[in-house]
Amino acid sequence: MEKDYEELLEQAKIDLPDNKRMLKHLKKKNLDELFQKHHEKVFKKIDCLICANCCTTTGPILLVRDIDRISKSLRMKPAVFEANYLRRDEEGDWVFKTMPCPFLGSDNYCLIYDVRPKACREYPHTDSKNMHKLFDITLTNSTICPAVAMILERIRAENGDKWTKKQIMQNQDR
Ligand code: SF4
Ligand code: SF4
Repeated sequence: MEKDYEELLEQAKIDLPDNKRMLKHLKKKNLDELFQKHHEKVFKKIDCLICANCCTTTGPILLVRDIDRISKSLRMKPAVFEANYLRRDEEGDWVFKTMPCPFLGSDNYCLIYDVRPKACREYPHTDSKNMHKLFDITLTNSTICPAVAMILERIRAENGDKWTKKQIMQNQDR
């Protein structure tokens, strides 16, 4: 991963309490539009092909229809695909046996891109509907995905960083 991206993730770990406070205070109205706007701008700057951190470190949950679609494209029976590539996690969901993902190419392209799991298509979920229901996962993803880290950084900056502990104390002193 690029050094810039690593730095974004490091900073996001430090900023977790501020980001958590900010998300708690953001108004629900126009929240999806706010995230969507920054999602689009940030993904013009961040290049997934020089990152691939999600495919390297945190795998998707695979739904039955994902398994059916992928195994079909690999001309494999679903049971064989499961035996070769998948395991059940603690919650009983299907996940890849090994990470980095077995379908991550050496050039960071996804070898099953057209049929990839739904969770991969939707990651990192910052252009989802009902963002207010995704705050926990967004905070977690800010330490995995440099794009999410940057999106939260931008939303905080746009609001004058008023959720930092220091800023809150200064406001109380006024
Ligand atoms: S299936 Fe493709 S997009 Fe999903 S984790 Fe693997 S390499 Fe990444
Ligand atoms: S979605 Fe995020 S973590 Fe995954 S490759 Fe793109 S920038 Fe990196």
